[in-house]
Amino acid sequence: MFKSRFMPCPTCGASVDRHGLPEHQCLPERRTDYEMFGLREEIARLEADLGRYLATASGRFSTWLAARQVRRRP
Ligand SMILES: [Zn+2]
Repeated sequence: MFKSRFMPCPTCGASVDRHGLPEHQCLPERRTDYEMFGLREEIARLEADLGRYLATASGRFSTWLAARQVRRRP
């Protein structure tokens, strides 16, 4: 099997030369993007779950209460 000279960094996903991996330093922005990419399905599911919750009686009450609390702030 063909073994590429480069491999993805397991922490940030950057393409790194196999021999340079010990010296590789992950960029915080790249690491965040990589983690967000890994969570994309959970994020999409959260939006759908939140929408379903907000459509329930409890969710409508929470929405009403939050709006009321925001209006009452000085
Ligand atoms: Zn990295």
